[in-house]
Amino acid sequence: MDKDIADKILNAVDANFDKQTAFLSELVGHPSTRGQEQAAQGFMAKALLARGMLVDRWQINLDDIRHLPGFSPVIGSYDDAVNVVGTHKSRTASGRSLILNGHIDIVPAGPLDMWDAPPFLPRVEGDWMYGRGAGDMKAGLVANLFALDALRAEGFAPAADLYFQSVVEEECTGNGALACLQRGYKADAVLIPEPFDETLVKAQTGVIWFQVHLEGLPTHVAYAGDGANAIEAAIPLINALHGLEKRWNAPECRHHDFAHHEHALNLNVGKIVGGDWPSSVPAWCVFDVRMGIFPGQDLEAARKDIEATLLKAAEENSFLRDNKPKIVYHGFMAEGYALSDDKSEPALSAIQTLGEAHKAVNDKALEQMAITCTTDTRFYGLYANTPALVYGPHAEAIHGFNERVSLESMKRVTKTTALFIANWCGLEEI
Ligand code: ZN
Repeated sequence: MDKDIADKILNAVDANFDKQTAFLSELVGHPSTRGQEQAAQGFMAKALLARGMLVDRWQINLDDIRHLPGFSPVIGSYDDAVNVVGTHKSRTASGRSLILNGHIDIVPAGPLDMWDAPPFLPRVEGDWMYGRGAGDMKAGLVANLFALDALRAEGFAPAADLYFQSVVEEECTGNGALACLQRGYKADAVLIPEPFDETLVKAQTGVIWFQVHLEGLPTHVAYAGDGANAIEAAIPLINALHGLEKRWNAPECRHHDFAHHEHALNLNVGKIVGGDWPSSVPAWCVFDVRMGIFPGQDLEAARKDIEATLLKAAEENSFLRDNKPKIVYHGFMAEGYALSDDKSEPALSAIQTLGEAHKAVNDKALEQMAITCTTDTRFYGLYANTPALVYGPHAEAIHGFNERVSLESMKRVTKTTALFIANWCGLEEI
């Protein structure tokens, strides 16, 4: 691309940045936790319509996707799960098509008194914008939008079809991105600006969610025998799962991108409930687990290993021997994905194009990293044969308290994204 045009595009990002920050602030003000995304999706749909895009807004139908690879089981309905996709139709269609994807759903804020200020009243302090979802990943979604704005400000549009996706369900299943695939949205590459510090994600682990249900006969505490307590029975099972976690993290089990990562796969007991009150021996207990897996690790084999581990530990416990744990899968059933394993021409070319855009903005080489969590890239990479790149801003305390994103970083990512679009899709005059 002409250096002159590139400079104009970068200047347009600067010129529009106050507007971009205000837009991000308004978006963070919509508390789009799972089931509550409609207002934020409405806000995004309006923004896409205002930019002349064709807007497709639909409720995910579980029956459309439950048979597809990558589907994650869910409990409950999808009455409130609405995706938004804006389409830019190129006049010339001379370049390579692109999906800009981001998720609108955010994780729960947790106890509000752990925050220094209300999580949905975003505030700016110095370079930081604070608020739940500011980093993960509304700043990325907004960077996608304002990258396109910068092109338009200079009289350009992508010279290929471009799909702007704002999806739900990233934080618990990924079924929002899967529904986009099922609906027919395909392109030559995908960019997802998840907040990984302006690096390119070369590999990500998979994630499995499951619940363990324990149930037995209630007793009066006065007659409670040893180990007949459903809550205490969870403890040996949790210990056994940590044994499995250790086994899976062994050097010989690691994917090559995680060879030097001592503990890439994390088991987290994220929630536990059980019992009724202090003077009854608890008859029931349920705990929720998140476990990582490596790219290439088979989901079915992983599930069998988890089940065998729990059943073996149950055999050694007096309560559990007669009351076998029941395992219920709901939420993530996600394979790992490694962009680095994709040696196709489109993948290499997309990585190179992003690297050049990053260098033009930052004057340094694009670093790559392997991350110990999942993103929606896996759907495009594994099930649609499309290279999927994660590259987004610097954020801190995502999923924690006082989540914040660096605005300067969001600006640089917006610039890199604008140049990436311009070089990948090419430009046509509006
Ligand atoms: Zn995210």
